[in-house]
Amino acid sequence: MLRYSLVFIFLFFASCIPVKTYSQEKTSLNTVVIDAGHGGKDPGTMGKQAQEKYINLGIALKLGGLIRSNCPDVKVIFTREKDEFIELHERADIANRNNADLFISIHCNSNPSHIFRGAETYVMGLHRSQANLEIAKKENASILMEPNYSVNYNGFDPNSDESYITFTMFQNAFLDQSTNFAATVQDQLKGRVGLDDRGVRQAGFLVLYKTTMPSVLVEAGFLSNPEEETFLISDNGQEFIASAIFRAFISFKKKIESGGKEVIAYNPGIDTQKGKSKIIVTKPVKTQKEIVSGKTEPKPDPPKKTKIQSPVISYRVQFMIYPKDISLHSVKFSGLPDIRMYRHQGMFKYTTGEGKSVEEVTKFLDMAKDKGFKDAFIVAFKGEERITIAEAKRLQSFE
Ligand SMILES: [Zn+2]
Repeated sequence: MLRYSLVFIFLFFASCIPVKTYSQEKTSLNTVVIDAGHGGKDPGTMGKQAQEKYINLGIALKLGGLIRSNCPDVKVIFTREKDEFIELHERADIANRNNADLFISIHCNSNPSHIFRGAETYVMGLHRSQANLEIAKKENASILMEPNYSVNYNGFDPNSDESYITFTMFQNAFLDQSTNFAATVQDQLKGRVGLDDRGVRQAGFLVLYKTTMPSVLVEAGFLSNPEEETFLISDNGQEFIASAIFRAFISFKKKIESGGKEVIAYNPGIDTQKGKSKIIVTKPVKTQKEIVSGKTEPKPDPPKKTKIQSPVISYRVQFMIYPKDISLHSVKFSGLPDIRMYRHQGMFKYTTGEGKSVEEVTKFLDMAKDKGFKDAFIVAFKGEERITIAEAKRLQSFE
């Protein structure tokens, strides 16, 4: 049965693949489609206070505004400009119908652990790690909210590893340029915003696979990390992320329009052009608002960093094991603090609370039991790796 469904999925994607599979290159950048991930009934991932859909929209609109103000020759198209649900295939269709030269999908990341931080930018392709596949699964899961998803995606199951095997064989024909742009975005998010650089990655995203132009999906930070969540919610944070992607856009546009010969670093404050050198450092581009007000570009205010030297030993209270992933905001968990999920031995395991010792988390054990989770017990972690309590205590004795 699996073999037949794989063949079916293969034929489906083969029939849909809209581009030739040899590599292609854009030589001009006149139309860009900016895609704010999720929206409407699909909130995306959630932080303690934030819903991803609003942050994506904020960054997308700011990015589009910067491009419109500074690049009058570029047509900016948004897949959504308000809080509304747009199907994933429609987002790619918008870009294709408008003959876009670049597609930028904006998202925020999350992880059951609050320790993870930083930005990563994806291009379409075969995932090289389970972590990358998990991100694609999470983003693709929004098709489950589309009324005709089984027809529109022909039975593709965003939660099944098998579905991705064939799907990710179809790479975007503009993979080189997608990767190039993705790397520039990462450079800017690191240099301009101060986010940790988690690199350019590949995975099978339904929103990217049908696009017929260079296309990337930016995960602009972790809503599960409290410091990054605060930064991402703030107007200043969104402005800086938009500004970083805008700078990457300018570099990429100049590069492809010069035939890829020039390596251009977009760097504010310096205005030099070194003789025969291929490296050109351009002036900062000011937004119209800044030109009118005479203000300079805002100074970066990156999220504060807590350096973690070695995996932290922690204790949590495990109160539930489930075969499926449940939203951390499920009513099942209401009243319990700091809910997290980790995967262990093929199951989804849910914990509440965290502390540096068994004693510190005993109160969370009492709370879980009071809520009816009578089998709750204390578990230990080294970073995000589940270890025994004895091992945790042994490691702590060396600290
Ligand atoms: Zn997302």
